[in-house]
Amino acid sequence: MKTAVVLLSGGQDSTTCLYWAKVNFDRVTAVCFDYGQRHVTELAAAERVARVANVTLKKLTIGALRELAGSALTSSGIPVAAEGGYKDAEAPNGLPSTFVPGRNALFMALAAAHAVSLGAKAIVTGTCQTDYSGYPDCRRDFVDAMERALTLAMPSSAGPIQIVTPLMYLTKAETVGLAQRLPGCMDALAETVTCYHGRRPGCGQCPACELRARGFAEAGVLDPAGA
Ligand code: ZN
Repeated sequence: MKTAVVLLSGGQDSTTCLYWAKVNFDRVTAVCFDYGQRHVTELAAAERVARVANVTLKKLTIGALRELAGSALTSSGIPVAAEGGYKDAEAPNGLPSTFVPGRNALFMALAAAHAVSLGAKAIVTGTCQTDYSGYPDCRRDFVDAMERALTLAMPSSAGPIQIVTPLMYLTKAETVGLAQRLPGCMDALAETVTCYHGRRPGCGQCPACELRARGFAEAGVLDPAGA
């Protein structure tokens, strides 16, 4: 029996991954993280999506990211870059102000610990390097390294740990196309929150809203969240 643990943020990509996993695994469970993100609407969205998808959602709290990280997603004092795509010239190293250092590494390590406790070997995540946001921890190279590190970190009987990234090389429009082919997925997408300002429907202005809108427009599909 193949079991997958899906990292569910309450957004479009992770919701699509959840429904992808429901087709490709025998048993699916989800995990979400309360990491001090500015908008608890994301967590509420994850809860709604899990309910609609009829999967168990485990919520884990990571207070440390808020204490450590200077990111627009965890600190109300840092603005989200308003326009011009993802690059924010004022951010250190040219990274977007929405980058949360260490976030994906932590999420994957905790998801792997949860997976091992359930006897699962697969973690499914919506990380994607196509519309490259500049987040270094969204690259498949990083995921490959984490997969190897987590396999080495766990008892040999628990592994190998596999980190599955169905959206890694898809454009946003292709992700919308995939969602359309997955039974029930479009209904669940109506519950999602993508906006960096935590709004549903989205603000339509922030880089996350722009990327989502462009994907649906290119796919010729109406966004069920009304964004
Ligand atoms: Zn927005």
